Amino acid sequence: MTELIRVERTDKKKNKPEQGKLGFGKHFTDHMFIMNYTDGRGWHDPRVIPYQPIALDPAAKVFHYGQTIFEGLKAYRTDDGRILLFRPQLNFERMNRSNERLGVPDVDGEIAIEALRKLIEVDRDWIPSEEGTSLYIRPFVIATEPELGVSPSLEYQFIIIMSPVGAYYPEGVNPVKIYVECDYVRAVRGGVGEAKTAGNYAGGLKAQELAKAKGYTQVLWLDGVQRKYIEEVGSMNVFFKLEGKVHTPILNGSILAGITRRSIIELLRHWNIEVVERAITIEELYEAGRDGRLEEAFGTGTAAVISPIGELNWQDDPLVINGGKTGELSAKLYDTLTGIQQGRIADPFGWMV
Ligand code: PMP
Repeated sequence: MTELIRVERTDKKKNKPEQGKLGFGKHFTDHMFIMNYTDGRGWHDPRVIPYQPIALDPAAKVFHYGQTIFEGLKAYRTDDGRILLFRPQLNFERMNRSNERLGVPDVDGEIAIEALRKLIEVDRDWIPSEEGTSLYIRPFVIATEPELGVSPSLEYQFIIIMSPVGAYYPEGVNPVKIYVECDYVRAVRGGVGEAKTAGNYAGGLKAQELAKAKGYTQVLWLDGVQRKYIEEVGSMNVFFKLEGKVHTPILNGSILAGITRRSIIELLRHWNIEVVERAITIEELYEAGRDGRLEEAFGTGTAAVISPIGELNWQDDPLVINGGKTGELSAKLYDTLTGIQQGRIADPFGWMV
């Protein structure tokens, strides 16, 4: 597709929310990007248009069989006024791995980045500048063919919307309490856990709500077969510092390959800190916690960046980590990664675009 991206600007600009009251994903910018796919023709009609509702046939496949995928990344405004994206190519590569798993046609990564550049250019005054704020970008694909047969849709829409956001957790970089979920599971090997698709999140809501009702911020997911191995924490990857080395569950087919996860591993190795990707059991983690070998635990993801874990609860057995405080390494990782993302610290990796 070499079609030019058409731009239709709104004449009704919205009032921008106060930067201190942004929340997460509650406000949306003035414009959105959209393009269509039809079988035989491929992707076509790329356009930036005023942010608006989309009309879909009630038989559109996305409503019935959940053939949809999404991505999440952020744009930052630096103190000297530049606009930076964090490793956007990786998001669009992952998007296509998700697409492939869900039977959705590929979206050319270069076209997706071009679309994003155009959209950001049009809505650039929506990128907040206060410390800890950013513009969250949500690209997604939905199956729009109106047909109830269970087969891949022949029509799709690729859409990008954007939302100015503050901190993901109201607690900020303070440690969160996590409930270790032993009944429900998020994903199984061979399933769709590796893909960023809606059903994984819908399937996680019940456990998340139950954990919240018990006073926990999120759940720690265990593997779907034995409830023995640690997988992820909420919608973040998870890391543990054990006797100076950092351990994280190996990508085993049911874990989402986080871009923050990958970046944290690269950053730690750059600092000559050993990172071990392996299968980790909840039992050994508790043992390490009991005899003082578990020094820190934290989740990683685009939304919260680093979220320290201050307490776990597995089978009504609470385990306080690092006295319930933010660990030194967690804090250093948070400061460094957000510093690079916001252009305050030089980027030795060439991550920022
Ligand atoms: N796991 C899950 C299930 C997620 O939804 C996310 C958020 N995309 C992550 C991990 C972290 O991924 P990333 O670092 O790319 O945001």
